Amino acid sequence: MPLDDSQVTRVLAVAAHPDDLDFGAAGTVSQWTDAGIQVTYLLCTRGDQGGFDDTPRDHMPQLRETEQRAAAKAVGVTDVRFLDGFKDGWLEPSHDLQREIVRVIRQVRPDRMLIQSPERYWDRIGASHPDHLASGEASIRAIYPAARNPFAYPELLDDEGLQPWIVREVWLMADPSSSHFVDITANFGRKLEALHAHRSQTSHMDDLEGMLRMWGQRTAQANGLPEGSLAEVFRVVATG
Ligand SMILES: [Zn+2]
Repeated sequence: MPLDDSQVTRVLAVAAHPDDLDFGAAGTVSQWTDAGIQVTYLLCTRGDQGGFDDTPRDHMPQLRETEQRAAAKAVGVTDVRFLDGFKDGWLEPSHDLQREIVRVIRQVRPDRMLIQSPERYWDRIGASHPDHLASGEASIRAIYPAARNPFAYPELLDDEGLQPWIVREVWLMADPSSSHFVDITANFGRKLEALHAHRSQTSHMDDLEGMLRMWGQRTAQANGLPEGSLAEVFRVVATG
């Protein structure tokens, strides 16, 4: 059973690209922030390979950072951090990436983390972009064992005074064994607002709302929720 939200003070959400967290979990995140949980977003890249128009490529990182900050605000998240030095399309679960994630885990000290699944989801190939798998793998390696082990990346403790930290629970997005459904019917408008904020990624879509509703309804139906309900789904893993 997942932790009750009342047992959770802080959540750290990690993803490869701006918009990943919004497509996968914005409805759920808005429920967490409504419940008073402090949520931090950590984006491994600025999505510099994204977009569908002729926006100059060198404008894309700043544009997508601005879009992600606006999307986060729509669901009550104001602490949004970006890693430097990692390129969209080139993400690997390297020690450089793991160390960066461990640093933020030890700074934020989250009870719960929301990450991308490191397992490929063959039923929906777009969910398993290689960067998503890399971000997920680096995140779970950071959660266990590195963040809790003072001798992993010892410079974080020695130079920055960052104490080891145990994350109690992990929520995986787009995992093949997802089974924890969250009813987001009441929060759907905020998810839609968050995704509209990613204009460079979504403004070319004819019916963003219809697509999001269809996904949400399918997920809700799979869980036997009443007709018209919308849901997001996760795999929840105890890591504490
Ligand atoms: Zn992505």
